[in-house]
Amino acid sequence: MINFNVPPHVGKEEEYIKQAIESHKICGDGEFTKKCNSWIEQRTGTSKALLVTSGSTALDMAAVLSEVGPGDEVILPSYTFVSTANAFVLRGADLVFVDIRPDTQNIDEKLIEDAITDRTKVIAPVHYAGVSCEMDTIMDIAKRHNLVVIEDAAQGVMSTYKGRGLGSVGDYGCYSFHETKNYSMGEGGALLINDESKIDRAEIIREKGTDRSKFLRGAIDKYTWVDMGSSYLPSELNAAYLWAQLEMADPINEDRMANWNAYYEQLSELADEGRLELPVIPEGCEHNAHMFYIKTANLEERVALSTYLKEKDISTVFHYVPLHSAPAGSKFGKFHGEDKYTTNTFERLLRLPMFYGLKADDVQKVCEAIKSFYNK
Ligand SMILES: *Cc1c(COP(=O)(O)O)cnc(C)c1O
Repeated sequence: MINFNVPPHVGKEEEYIKQAIESHKICGDGEFTKKCNSWIEQRTGTSKALLVTSGSTALDMAAVLSEVGPGDEVILPSYTFVSTANAFVLRGADLVFVDIRPDTQNIDEKLIEDAITDRTKVIAPVHYAGVSCEMDTIMDIAKRHNLVVIEDAAQGVMSTYKGRGLGSVGDYGCYSFHETKNYSMGEGGALLINDESKIDRAEIIREKGTDRSKFLRGAIDKYTWVDMGSSYLPSELNAAYLWAQLEMADPINEDRMANWNAYYEQLSELADEGRLELPVIPEGCEHNAHMFYIKTANLEERVALSTYLKEKDISTVFHYVPLHSAPAGSKFGKFHGEDKYTTNTFERLLRLPMFYGLKADDVQKVCEAIKSFYNK
C-alpha cells in the first residue's frame, strides 16, 4: 500500500516531549514554543510569529485583528479549505468568491479589483500547494483600496515569493502544522504579524484578552482583562514535537522536493502528449513540495484513474469542493464573475502520494501505474 500521507516524524520528538514534561512546563509559551516562534521569525522575516492551536485559529485571530465585521466583504477564492471562509463568517462578514488561475489554482489577481465594493475590507489569498499567489499585484490593489491582506499560507511553510517567506508579505500570515502539512505538531499553527503596531493586540487576543504576555516579560506588575480574546496557545508537548521537525526543516524540504521533481520528470512525457496537466511554478516563486497534483481531462477520467490506482494499492485524493457550491458557502457568500476554473479544477485535480520519507521506488511505481492507465 502506498499511502497518500504519513505524518512527519524525524526521531527526536519523543526526547523533546520528555524534556518538556521534566521541565514541569506543559502548558503554552514555554521554551519549545519560543524556539518555534523565533525559527519562523528568522526564516520568514516577519515582525512577530505566535504559535497557535491550528491554522484555523490563526485565521480566526487574523480576522479579529483586521476588525472585519457585519456589513463588510471579504474577497477569497472558492477553491480553498473551509477555514479560510469560516474565520470571516464568525465575524459576521460576507464572502465574495473570485475565480482561480488554471495554472497555479490560486486566486486570479486580475479578477480581484472588479470584485471590490465600498464594503470590501479584506483580501484573503490562499497559496495553494505552497506556491505563492501574485503578491505584488495583490498588495498594490490592497494599498490603493485600503484593504487588509490576510495570507492563508497554511500550506506554505518554507515557500517564498521573490525571496520573501510566504505569510510575511501581507498584513497577517497563517501557517498550519496539522499532520497533513509539511511540518507538524498534530494540530497546530502560527500567526505571523507583519505590522508591528498589531503585535500587542495579537498577544492579548491569544491570551484570553489579558495582557499576561506583557506581565510575563516583566513589562507590567499585574495582568488584567483588557480586550476580547480566547485561548489560542498550544501545549508545550505539541510545540516540542514541532521543534524536532523545524530543526530538520531543510532535509525535510529536500526530501520532498526530490520526490516532487521525480514525479514531474517521470510524468512530463504524458504532459507533453497533452494527456494530463502538471503543476506550474511561476517565476519568482520557490515552493515547498507540499503537494504533487495532476489534472486529468475531466471528472470521469479523474474518477477512473483514482479507482485504477486504488486497485494497485496507491491512494490518491481529489481536493476542495468549491465553497460557493456548498450549503454554507451559498448562505454566507456569493461568487463574483464567472466560474471558469474553480469547479473545473475541483473536477480534474488529483493529488498523488507525497510525504516526508516517501520512497523514490514508490514514486516510480505511482508514475508507472499512471502511464499504464493512459496507455492501456
Ligand atoms: C490545512 C489548511 C487550513 C487549516 O489548518 P488547520 O491547522 O487544519 O486548522 C486552512 N487553510 C488551508 C488552505 C489549509 O490547507
